[in-house]
Amino acid sequence: MQPLRVYSVVPKLPPKLKPLWELAYNCWFSWNTEIAELFAQVDQKLWRECESNPVGFLNRLPQRTLESLAGDQFFLDRLTELRKSLEHYLSKTATSIPFPENEGQEPVIAYFSLEYGVSKALPIYSGGLGILAGDHLKSASDLCLPLVAIGIAYQQGYFRQYLTPDGWQQERYPIYDFEQMPMTLATDAEGKRVLVSVDLKGDRIFAQIWKVAVGRIKLLLLDTNIAENQPQFKQITTRLYGGNLEMRLWQEILLGIGGIKVLDLLGYKPKVIHMNEGHSAFAGLERIRRFMEDSKLTFEAAAELVASSSIFTTHTPVPAGNDRFPPDLMQPYFEDYARKLGLAWKVFLALGREDPRNDAEPFCMTVLALRLSRINNGVSLLHGHVSRNMWKRVWPQYPVEDVPIGAVTNGVHAPSWVAPDMALLFDRYMGSNWREDPDCTRVFEQAEAISDAELWRTHERLRERLIDYVRRKLHDQLLQRGAKRKELQMAEEVLDPQALTIGFGRRFATYKRATLILSDQERLIKILSESPRPVQFIFAGKAHPHDNEGKKLIQQLVALCGTPECRYSMVFLEDYDMEVASYMYQGCDVWMNTPRRPLEACGTSGMKAMVNGVLNFSTLDGWWAEAWRPDNSLGWAIGLGEEYEDVQYQDFVESQTLYNVLENEIIPTFYDRGHGNLPRAWIRKMKDSIRYLGPVFSSHRMVEDYAKVAYGPAIENYNRLVKKDFAAAKDLAQWRMDMMTKWSSLDIRNVHATDPQQVFVGEPIVVTAEINLNGIRPQDVRVEIYSGPVDFEGKFSQRETTIMQPAGDMQEGWQQFRGEVMPVEAGRFGFTVRILPHHPLLLDSHSLGLIRWADQG
Ligand SMILES: *Cc1c(COP(=O)(O)O)cnc(C)c1O
Repeated sequence: MQPLRVYSVVPKLPPKLKPLWELAYNCWFSWNTEIAELFAQVDQKLWRECESNPVGFLNRLPQRTLESLAGDQFFLDRLTELRKSLEHYLSKTATSIPFPENEGQEPVIAYFSLEYGVSKALPIYSGGLGILAGDHLKSASDLCLPLVAIGIAYQQGYFRQYLTPDGWQQERYPIYDFEQMPMTLATDAEGKRVLVSVDLKGDRIFAQIWKVAVGRIKLLLLDTNIAENQPQFKQITTRLYGGNLEMRLWQEILLGIGGIKVLDLLGYKPKVIHMNEGHSAFAGLERIRRFMEDSKLTFEAAAELVASSSIFTTHTPVPAGNDRFPPDLMQPYFEDYARKLGLAWKVFLALGREDPRNDAEPFCMTVLALRLSRINNGVSLLHGHVSRNMWKRVWPQYPVEDVPIGAVTNGVHAPSWVAPDMALLFDRYMGSNWREDPDCTRVFEQAEAISDAELWRTHERLRERLIDYVRRKLHDQLLQRGAKRKELQMAEEVLDPQALTIGFGRRFATYKRATLILSDQERLIKILSESPRPVQFIFAGKAHPHDNEGKKLIQQLVALCGTPECRYSMVFLEDYDMEVASYMYQGCDVWMNTPRRPLEACGTSGMKAMVNGVLNFSTLDGWWAEAWRPDNSLGWAIGLGEEYEDVQYQDFVESQTLYNVLENEIIPTFYDRGHGNLPRAWIRKMKDSIRYLGPVFSSHRMVEDYAKVAYGPAIENYNRLVKKDFAAAKDLAQWRMDMMTKWSSLDIRNVHATDPQQVFVGEPIVVTAEINLNGIRPQDVRVEIYSGPVDFEGKFSQRETTIMQPAGDMQEGWQQFRGEVMPVEAGRFGFTVRILPHHPLLLDSHSLGLIRWADQG
């Protein structure tokens, strides 16, 4: 029997408690722990059951409790106070970071991501990418950046992990009730749901839109699970990273094309878009289509405008992490669309191909994003370098160092990740502006002043809290698995609150090498049980549901955790999520990470540990390659950043190094106790890593960097290109076509330099070259000397470019150019000359793919 009608019943709310709902509906609670504490204190048990979701929690509070709260003056005062601080927070509008003038009243930046990790209460994330997006929004909010975000409301989220008694990962998919979560449906003036539609192979599908408040930022989530859709399309927003390739294509069409439509429907007029990973690259196509339709631009002019105002961040050096769709799969979805863009099918496919002429090549979302955006970046310095190599075929004529992919190193939102107890200590010694002040270098210097004893006691308390949490969780875990009484009892006794505690929590992808630590089990067991200096490990992490290799790693680890030698000092926690992660980042002594360089693009868990004074111990990959210091003053390295051909040999060498560093450095430093039982040398490292790394690996710094190198320039470019009915965009497109046709006949001859045989350090070399511009105006090109030290293979090991100036006309269209270079150190030095297109509105002269080098020889 089915009910005739279904209602959402909500409790009758005493008016005095109204502000509770305001606090519950803004995810500000996820980085203002006082708010979460206020909720928790009403009913700890229910709060835990509701998984820190304040909306669900309030709706489940018994009427009796609500009424008693309404009569509790102490509670009401605290509520008023917190509501006022939220109001105060929301009322600030002026951004404190450098930003184009007259921008910032309305959101001008649209941020796209397939996942967001804002709070455990909003389970629409799987891991690093989503958490990073969440931290990006939080910092954008703190810094008053005018940004709006687009994502998807997954009814079953990613998955919840549990293990069978023999350690095999199982997936659970609870169904989330959005009505009971901190989100509200977008409605029109009459209160009706706003629906957006996209076409899938001739079928029209609809999505409703959920609005989430993340501080000052609005996050808009698409949801196709509505009556208007056929069953297969309702599934589009069921699971994050679930389903087959075609499902992924549907999700990405929804996010990219649907996302642009949502912005329009809700009255947003963003000038630039930021694609967090290639998943959303269809957004660029949809923007082009709109400019063509609404403003009658040609494809070229619209594409110029869109690319000039788009930012793309790539996140993975693992090839499988980049979506590639076979042309046959693309065709039914995009053939019509290509026609609307005025593109032949092959030309359309070329937008997603590294080699446009290769008909067999699948359509790659990363390539599309690179082609549709002028500002591209990887997420650490090393990853920038790796990405330039990985995608150099998109710019076949360029030396790899000129491939236009830069780097903005990721950061973490400290107020969300620093433990409340530690945060109080920071407040006391650094002032409360460590939370919001973007000029955090000065603020973080004050970490030096924190009392050693206070810092250590706080840290020890956090370790105890972690162990408490582990025991409780382990108990529940075992209970679920049907464990016996004796086993359950054991759960209460695992781990030692005084012992050196090492954490390892991450996706169980094979390149992360979770089992590196197991390679010599005898040695490991000896380390664990060495009295009086015991060591213990806490592991957590999920493997992708289809990744059996990853699941095997978990099983191997869990098997060892269950042996008599290890069961008290090694535990595996199920269902790694933002909550498990927080406890671990806050309560471990050491955060261990063992990715196979250079496959970790950045990694952020180590940063979250670092802001809590937890010391990192990691291979030199991602951010740690930037942060680690050779004197180990901020933490330890595994190896020196070598890359190996033979991965088995690499694993062997690095596991040996891992044990050595543990035995010879980490354990002795931790247990070297002085007066008051304080490990002074360890505390020194804790303080130094907070002080020196805190302000750098912060998402405030990251968002500020994006504002400076990406958002600001892209907005200014947009403004220039759209002025006077898109005059400049049309002009630029025309100029580009012109350059494309004339470029091939450009010529360079007679490159000369003063006495190239005998050169002294610090003495200039004068270079001249004759250029035939073939009707191109001199101001349309940049003639450059490309110079630098040369390695033993005769290749540039570094390079510098120097602009050459026109130095007089010659006959028959030839013109002389002149410039000077200066070798700054002794050794082999070389130069050559090249020509690039140049236009004041062109953000990046490499984007045309045109270049002319002086002939060799
Ligand atoms: C930070 C975080 C991650 C990403 O950490 P990595 O260092 O990239 O492995 C994954 N999951 C959760 C829950 C996190 O908080």
